[in-house]
Amino acid sequence: MTLAATKGQADPFAEARRHRLQARSEAAVRNLVRNGFSARFLSTREEGVSAVLDLIPAGARVGFGGSLTLRELNLPTILQERGHELLNHWIVGISPEESLRIRREQLSVDVFLTSTNAITLEGELVNVDGIGNRVGAMMFGPGKVVVVAGANKIVQDVAAARERIRELAAPVNARRLGVPTPCAELGYCVDCDRPERICRIVTILERRPALTTMEVLIVGEELGL
Ligand code: SF4
Repeated sequence: MTLAATKGQADPFAEARRHRLQARSEAAVRNLVRNGFSARFLSTREEGVSAVLDLIPAGARVGFGGSLTLRELNLPTILQERGHELLNHWIVGISPEESLRIRREQLSVDVFLTSTNAITLEGELVNVDGIGNRVGAMMFGPGKVVVVAGANKIVQDVAAARERIRELAAPVNARRLGVPTPCAELGYCVDCDRPERICRIVTILERRPALTTMEVLIVGEELGL
């Protein structure tokens, strides 16, 4: 008999992976709440989308913080169909001037939706940004900030968060954006000093920013980078 699941039996590996994601998520949620954030665990991406929609009032202007996670959850389309005005600089074909205008307006939307590069088990949000509109809007300005992240983004501590960003998120993002950084070619960070460097700002939210309402939703599936 092999280890593969037999007909009618649950796959023990799938169950063990699911349990790991849920247990880590619940620890991160506990510590995020201790650190002043509102935080919840949602088992599936469908539950995650539903929780996001419940947090966005009718008619709200919604800003997007350039996120693969939000795209994988199809939230731009869903919110457009609900009739929201969207401030999304990821729209294909917009001019640099329009992109800059949208990034600025994201700082004062009713709801700013974003993911995060990493969440530590101690309940901190760690991000690396190049321009700063995403991390800026996470800290101050929007009426509410909603952070959605897959449980795959939970790491042990800030050092592990920075490692995850250097080894995974930044190289893949640089490649996706066609930015000629060394990591886009090599697949790992060499702490470059290129003018094109996309890692320019590191933020660690150790506690909820004092004047920002922030909801962190952790989904028990792999999402984003
Ligand atoms: S510092 Fe340079 S090489 Fe390292 S991840 Fe950022 S852009 Fe890539």
